[in-house]
Amino acid sequence: MLAKEYIELEEKYGAHNYHPLDVVIDRAEGVWVYDVEGNKYLDCLAAYSAVNQGHCHPRIVKALKEQADKVTLTSRAFRNSQLPLLYKELSELTGYELSLPMNSGAEAVETALKAARKWGYKVKGVPEQKAEIITCTNNFAGRTISIISFSTEEQYRDGFGPFTPGFKIVEYGNAKALENAVTSNTVAFLVEPIQGEGGVVVPPEGYLKSCADICRKNNVLLITDEIQCGLGRSGKLFAFEYENIRPDVVIIGKALSGGCYPVSAVLSNKEILGVFKPGDHGSTFGGNPLGAAVARESLKVLIDEKLIEKSFELGNYFISELKKIQSPHVKEVRGKGLFIGVELKKSAGGARRFCEALAQRGILCKETHENVIRFAPPLVIKKEEIDWALGIIKEVLIKY
Ligand SMILES: *Cc1c(COP(=O)(O)O)cnc(C)c1O
Repeated sequence: MLAKEYIELEEKYGAHNYHPLDVVIDRAEGVWVYDVEGNKYLDCLAAYSAVNQGHCHPRIVKALKEQADKVTLTSRAFRNSQLPLLYKELSELTGYELSLPMNSGAEAVETALKAARKWGYKVKGVPEQKAEIITCTNNFAGRTISIISFSTEEQYRDGFGPFTPGFKIVEYGNAKALENAVTSNTVAFLVEPIQGEGGVVVPPEGYLKSCADICRKNNVLLITDEIQCGLGRSGKLFAFEYENIRPDVVIIGKALSGGCYPVSAVLSNKEILGVFKPGDHGSTFGGNPLGAAVARESLKVLIDEKLIEKSFELGNYFISELKKIQSPHVKEVRGKGLFIGVELKKSAGGARRFCEALAQRGILCKETHENVIRFAPPLVIKKEEIDWALGIIKEVLIKY
């Protein structure tokens, strides 16, 4: 079948909740993806950082296949022989006492919000129904009704009300705004250490540290959403490490799956995750042995292949080389590790046309927020591959 035919089927039979580039991918390996016509592309999106370990990583695929042959789903009505090991390994790797597994990122965010509210009522002593959670402008935390209730993106909310109450929104990057918004009923502050969908926005230095101090002082839980910026993407295991803080709750997803099978988790301690009693919360697939086996191997690959260190070093290189490009369209190059955003000026006519030109030349990336091109390749990328990409990016940013 031709690419055109696949696209026609998709347009005809699928809901149009995405506007993908017209590349029909048929297989992938490492940083490279191949379309149905055999063209090869460097993947600079990495499925929004879900494939940090590279496409079809042989070790992760092997773990998936071996577990698929043994047992895939037990439900949490019974125990399985993978989940306890995932719990232990997550705790040893991150230093958090407990974790709670879910499937999608949005579910893990919902889980963290539920934990925070319950902690607020049962531990902090907030009056019933009064718990407030503070979030930031320009955030992205998923697409459920409660999560879009605190989105500041008009399109994410339009037509989906009524919304879930109990959220306050303060300016991202402004610790004073957080301080002013906190009340005795505030149970948590939810923040992305680097905003991903918001356009790879790195907050001012010291911001997270100040937020952590404000939270501590007011007995408010600091929840960091590391679903996109975590697990090596930013050049650290967690992006919050850049500020030497220790959030009370950390949410992970995306790369926890190695791009193979959806797994997410909430990491925290006994005081907070301990608020959940049997029956309080759950998910049929959350913690299933297939997902747990995949997550275990995905974490091991990150460590064994030193992908976090690679992200740090190659990211610094990529960013500094991008900054050297003299393009009339570029407003700012920013990021940490291999989590990079190139913001274009308004006059550039939007990032989409640059993404299309890059795709024609063998580089896949996706615009975020109209004017930002995100470069976030799998962390297994080699320096030579970055150099090759830089040549093309330079041509496109200058000539277009
Ligand atoms: C992708 C993302 C989510 C939601 O994850 P899904 O798996 O798409 O539900 C939440 N938070 C951040 C920061 C994300 O990038």
